[in-house]
Amino acid sequence: MKIIRFLSQSGEELYGAFDPEMPDEARIIEGDIFGDIAVTERAERIETFLPPVFPPNIIALGLNYGKHAEETGVKYPEIPVMFLKATSSVCGHGAPILLPSAGPSEVDYEAELAVIIGKEAKNVSREDVGKYVLGYTCANDVSARDWQIHKQKKQWARGKSFDTFCPMGPYLVTKDEVANANRLRVRSILNGEVMQDSDTSDMFFDIPAIISNLSCSMTLLPGTVILTGTPEGVGFTRNPPVFLQDGDIITVSIDNIGELTNPVKRE
Ligand code: MG
Repeated sequence: MKIIRFLSQSGEELYGAFDPEMPDEARIIEGDIFGDIAVTERAERIETFLPPVFPPNIIALGLNYGKHAEETGVKYPEIPVMFLKATSSVCGHGAPILLPSAGPSEVDYEAELAVIIGKEAKNVSREDVGKYVLGYTCANDVSARDWQIHKQKKQWARGKSFDTFCPMGPYLVTKDEVANANRLRVRSILNGEVMQDSDTSDMFFDIPAIISNLSCSMTLLPGTVILTGTPEGVGFTRNPPVFLQDGDIITVSIDNIGELTNPVKRE
């Protein structure tokens, strides 16, 4: 099932079952998406897409694609490199990514497959990881490189946690619809030009390894979003570098998972 969280025309916040054949409306879901749900006959028009979940934590992986690690000139990690992104940075499909008035000028895109945890996970073995995954969505790990790396002395969390720096969606695809999350084409498209074009099979640590490893150091609560890293082709490693500008349109496209599109605007 494709599950969206959205605002209806009357401003009601709802969960719905989404059918790409009928992209303007959704059938209302009742219940708890982390427990039992029922899809009702009632349909509502989608006014605004919201992020599919409001996460208790956003955990992100750095340097998890072989070719991206190479382009950044950093040595391959021996264990998953993890950082936290502020939950206040989430926004939905169609919402503008705001170039912060605080000054970072090197705002970059990162197309990522996001995993959404379905039930509390702690010390989970690789073999059991599937029981804890609710589904997947597209995410953009927007990053102000000048704050992430240079100006603020490698404060990754600050550079990646500005408001609107974590677009997610448009919908959550439940795991039963994804045959193999470790073989999905991942792309970013900036103003119609393909910037990243890779496959989750280039991940250093696959999804079972990531979740098993992270669950050793922290409890993964239902709704936790894990950004699994970005492939090569990000803006700051290009020559000349490419950074997001007012008026740009950036899309994260992942086969079988969806297309997340956001305009870029000045705050
Ligand atoms: Mg990233």
